Amino acid sequence: MGKTGMIFVAVLIYVLSALGTAGAREISSGQETVRTCNRTGGSGQTSPAELEPCGESARQSGIPGKHRKRRKSASRPSGRKKKGKKKKRGQKGSSLKKNVGRKKGKKETKRERKLKKDMIFSLSRTVSHYFPDLFDRIGELEDCRKKRHYELAEVIMACVFMFIFKKGSRNAMNNECSEDIFRRNCERIFGLRLPHMDTADKVMRMLDESQLEKLKTELVRVLISRKTFRRYRISGTYYRIAVDATRVMNVGEGHCDRCLHRTSKKGKVTYFHNVLEAKLVCGNGFCISLGTEWVENPGGDYDKQDCELKAFARLAKKLGKDFPRLPICVVADGLYPNQTFFRICEDQGWAWIVTFRDGNLPTVWEDVVGLQKITEKNMRQDVIFRRDRTILRAYEWINNIDYHGFELNWFECVEEAEDETKRFVYISSLETDWHSVLEMTESGRMRWKIENEGFDAQKNHGYGLGHKYSEVSMTAMKNYCQCMQIAHMINQLFELSSLFRPLLTGKMTVCHLWAYMLGEMRHRKLSLKKLGKLMERRIQLRYE
Ligand SMILES: [Zn+2]
Repeated sequence: MGKTGMIFVAVLIYVLSALGTAGAREISSGQETVRTCNRTGGSGQTSPAELEPCGESARQSGIPGKHRKRRKSASRPSGRKKKGKKKKRGQKGSSLKKNVGRKKGKKETKRERKLKKDMIFSLSRTVSHYFPDLFDRIGELEDCRKKRHYELAEVIMACVFMFIFKKGSRNAMNNECSEDIFRRNCERIFGLRLPHMDTADKVMRMLDESQLEKLKTELVRVLISRKTFRRYRISGTYYRIAVDATRVMNVGEGHCDRCLHRTSKKGKVTYFHNVLEAKLVCGNGFCISLGTEWVENPGGDYDKQDCELKAFARLAKKLGKDFPRLPICVVADGLYPNQTFFRICEDQGWAWIVTFRDGNLPTVWEDVVGLQKITEKNMRQDVIFRRDRTILRAYEWINNIDYHGFELNWFECVEEAEDETKRFVYISSLETDWHSVLEMTESGRMRWKIENEGFDAQKNHGYGLGHKYSEVSMTAMKNYCQCMQIAHMINQLFELSSLFRPLLTGKMTVCHLWAYMLGEMRHRKLSLKKLGKLMERRIQLRYE
């Protein structure tokens, strides 16, 4: 040891003196970096000049795992050396800088990757977090079957999962279920055996339509009692409930004795089914169905067809019964300003905000024009800067206008942005002032959420509203629609949460992430052990 050791020390001193202090630093950083190369199958040479080619070859190799691993270790020494030491000169310095940047980017990517990989577990945890007794609740529904190979909860949940996975048709769901690994994963993660959708369809035809609506109401009550939507109320009091009808399907003549029909100018008769929905809308994008009422003719003879306003009277009764103590503010379009609507809301103790078109209630319009001259102080102007655009908003309001014994409050917002001018006019049962006019206008404009986040999402983004899930049975069709509302509610709880939103960076879309999640279900054997570990941890779901 003595002689050999002496020789080694002498050689080392010689080398160090030859290279100088700076050189020594380079070698030490190079050793750190190259050590990483060795781990990842690099050349094993200590020359810093080889760092770049080594990096390039790993990148070109197209093995993302390799590339990531090496970069992580390579960036470590640069981070340590940054403090109180001289900057590297030339190419090495710049390459190290790049590594620091990559490290930051990589960290985020790693977190995103983890969230993405665990998406299906997160969905399962979201369901069990909000509705831990979902299967038991479904089990309480009345089962009218004679043969029972599957539990009623399994059959109904299969229908709900058809919408959760956004399959859009029973056939697509059957194709998915034909994959062995998909079925096994479903059983592992959600504790659910998937029946053939024809079996589910038989149950949907037999199940009374009020049963699933009752289940949906119970689930919404759970969310309200957990204060999920509490922060989105108007003035800290009222929940915004948007009301609107939409077309569910066009049908042929003789479909059933309750179809609505319309005759065109050319004499062509079309048959269809509409539904009226009451949805809780929130500023962050929640659009949760609270009540559903079908607009349909009474069977047999009738003088006038059913319409949206008649259906609203029925829906209000149902909502009043299901949510007796919920402070509601009904937000509706220009079809609704009439005495019947005002009376229904007054009887239920609800507030309301309704779009006020130029043709609506002419006497109220006359009063507004007359009163505008003596209420000049009821004005507010705001300037908003948004995406390099300057938007000027002018608000005006008039309170306490009498209309057949009802006290109405009128307010408008004129928005000017470059060449475009928009005007939003509403009447409400709530009084407006300088402070509240912004929130009131915002609430009125939120009616659009039932169209966009509600009907558009269900029609065009995978849920298949408008598709005939059952051509022959209207009862089955209504039950499928209720399953769709439950599934949409669950998906929103997940998609708007802090477990999903961070994934939507850059050009990433919800549609792609959902496809990715389904891919995981189809091709990866999901670990029950991992789910168990995750379930032990407390889940935290935050909404914007
Ligand atoms: Zn029909």
